[in-house]
Amino acid sequence: MIYAKTAHELHQLLIKGEISSKEVVSAVLERIDGVETDINAYITINEEALAQAERADRMIRDGKATPLTGIPVAVKDNMSTKGIRTTCASNMLKDYVPPYNATAVEKLIEAGAIIIGKTNLDEFAMGSSCENSAFKQTKNPWDLSKVPGGSSGGSAAAVAAGEAIMALGSDTGGSIRQPAAFTGVVGLKPTYGRVSRYGLVAFASSLDQIGPFARDVEDAANLLSVISGHDPLDSTSIPGKESDFSLDGASVKGLRVGIPKEFMTEGLDPVIRDAINRAAQLLEDEGASVKECSLPHSEYALSAYYIIAPAEASSNLARFDGVRYGLRVSGDNHTDMFIRSRQEGFGPEVKRRIMLGTYALSAGYYDAYYKKALQVRNLIKQDFDHVFADFDVILSPTTPSVAFGLGEKVDDPLSMYLSDVYTIPVNMAGLPGLSLPFGFNNGLPIGVQLIGGLWQERKLLQVGKVLEQATGYVPVVPERGDR
Ligand code: GLN
Repeated sequence: MIYAKTAHELHQLLIKGEISSKEVVSAVLERIDGVETDINAYITINEEALAQAERADRMIRDGKATPLTGIPVAVKDNMSTKGIRTTCASNMLKDYVPPYNATAVEKLIEAGAIIIGKTNLDEFAMGSSCENSAFKQTKNPWDLSKVPGGSSGGSAAAVAAGEAIMALGSDTGGSIRQPAAFTGVVGLKPTYGRVSRYGLVAFASSLDQIGPFARDVEDAANLLSVISGHDPLDSTSIPGKESDFSLDGASVKGLRVGIPKEFMTEGLDPVIRDAINRAAQLLEDEGASVKECSLPHSEYALSAYYIIAPAEASSNLARFDGVRYGLRVSGDNHTDMFIRSRQEGFGPEVKRRIMLGTYALSAGYYDAYYKKALQVRNLIKQDFDHVFADFDVILSPTTPSVAFGLGEKVDDPLSMYLSDVYTIPVNMAGLPGLSLPFGFNNGLPIGVQLIGGLWQERKLLQVGKVLEQATGYVPVVPERGDR
């Protein structure tokens, strides 16, 4: 099945001329036709995908193929795509067609990748289940009664279901890794500053980072190579960092692996705990040493995140006022117009975050909440610094449980927020985190997370590759929906 292959497998077939990009894209579009009514991964399919495939086929014939040339890649619908609607799954932007590409998207196009479509998300990337989308509910391809995770649930589900070969997501507190874990694909949140955020609609600017979804570690590494690098258009993108993530000679011999004891407590589903222990055993078998480590302030990460992220969001989202950006609903006077536009444009979770953030930043409470949260953020970062003085990588759960049921947590935002307890500290410290598929429980995928020091993506990917090999991992796409 073409749609179930990895990009590196397809690349071999493409450069040998055994298949054309047009055939790959057609196979994926057909798969979308077959399963999309069940999965709802996409908000928009790119009408130009086949035309882009023709261009890719010319690149291949001219000997200019990159590992991504001719490969269908899905893009989360909070990244600007020139001429293709970019909605952030919000009524606020339901008709917005950007005049430019996000840098990450531009880099994909330069590499000859095919932008196959724009994927569903929680509105403005706020959520953990795709249930906050204003348009549709994406389902978990492994079990349609479960959520795919979020906020990049559409991208994760598209890759898992064979509706794309790879995808881009964004991760502010876990939105790549958590859905990757829930849908059984590889997801990587890069070091803050590795990938340009230019053209990514901002949620919480000090935390947001674009990263890859893929079927295996090699594909994730190749996709990361393409999208990373300094961009003068994003002042937080860092120059002078390597973007070669080759996995040659990957080994964990002598590697010091830490498992944070604070992550292995009662809140963790025993099924996930077992997976972590098995992963630890495999790494030891391969020559690593595994020991307990400690992140004492991680228990405050969630609380601090839910001050900092909403604070930044309240400021970033101020531009959607019916004048400068977004939906305009007319009113009796201009204030009334602002109010109606924001009332109708934003959904309940986005409003909740704006209210939280505005409150935390208000003059009387700034020190008590926002400043305090920044101090906590610093302590969390220091915890990681201490750990990485003695360890090379951290092994941890990605999520406390496997995918939960649709509707199960919608009325309880706090329990929804908890699904990011193991991913949020990583964003708070700006570190890279990789979620890897690690088996199934009752038909639902389990993810394990590897966390590295700043700029240690290559090491993470190499450890990931070793784990993949040690488990004999073969990417699988569910049969479902082939009708
Ligand atoms: N689920 C978290 C939130 O709702 C993280 C979202 C994200 O990483 N974009 O804020």
